[in-house]
Amino acid sequence: MESTFSEDAREGPQGRLRLLQSRRFAMRVQRAEKYGFCAGVRIADRKVKKFVAQGGADGKILGQVVHNERVVEEMEELGVPTIESLEEIDQGTVVFSAHGVPPSFHSQAQSRCLKILDTTCPFVYDIHEEADRAVQQGAHLVFIGEPGHREVIGYTRDRDPSTYHILKTIEEAEEVDWSRYPKVMVLYQTTLNSEDYEDVVRLIESRAPHASRADTICYATKENQDAARGLCADPAVDLVLIIGGKQSANTRHLWEICRELKPSHLIQGSQDLHSEWFEGVGTVGITAGASTPDYVIDEVEQAILEWPIGAVGNHPEQERGES
Ligand code: SF4
Repeated sequence: MESTFSEDAREGPQGRLRLLQSRRFAMRVQRAEKYGFCAGVRIADRKVKKFVAQGGADGKILGQVVHNERVVEEMEELGVPTIESLEEIDQGTVVFSAHGVPPSFHSQAQSRCLKILDTTCPFVYDIHEEADRAVQQGAHLVFIGEPGHREVIGYTRDRDPSTYHILKTIEEAEEVDWSRYPKVMVLYQTTLNSEDYEDVVRLIESRAPHASRADTICYATKENQDAARGLCADPAVDLVLIIGGKQSANTRHLWEICRELKPSHLIQGSQDLHSEWFEGVGTVGITAGASTPDYVIDEVEQAILEWPIGAVGNHPEQERGES
């Protein structure tokens, strides 16, 4: 099978749009202007790989270094497996992942003579500090986020439960007696889409007049989301694929944005592609969550470009055969 592709990088109204087309097959691929690894995840990935390259042994990552199964597998192959709790490591180096841990985990690890490789993103540390400052000024904390998300656990586990709420819905906000809290500070989990929670935050502000908010949504998340909207708005794009891990909150949010605007599918990699999606499709738009490595995006792009015309209902590997 021919494996050379023509590449046409062009400047569009929103900046660089990458447009590729196979010489043999009809579908084009257009990437969003921004997609994939954010700076925080890129740094986390590099730190772990540097640790391995420098001969680091007995390393274990507490929680996924980023929420992407392929990255987790890659780390395991490098000899740095993922663990779910600190109790699972009794020697060597514990890696704290990009979205952080409760501060007490640092002292727990130190008291057990573990070394720490901290890959927590600086933006996440900013939110820890913002929350501490607000508490010192007498504010009740509200985290808009998922109670089970590691980042939110990092912000809350060490705090007295009476000093904060974690919520996401109007119903949850309505259940709270806000008159008990003279001062309220609203903070967001970094990977959320703030527009989705505007009603919730407005309700809090209307019930707690001394509420303020810090826009702690990560710029990388916003940029990927805005670029996904731009991709969907392009009339040339018939279908949008969002590439990312099943457990990645920001990938899911990208999908939620895209599916409102264009036929869209969330996939983990090229193995999830289905022929029936491509019937009548000329251009496939692709975007990816902040924890999706470049090589997974490249694999998906290549699979689309190599997709044979008229092959419907089979797995791409079966259709492509050996080249
Ligand atoms: S999404 Fe933002 S907050 Fe999260 S790791 Fe990336 S840069 Fe940091």
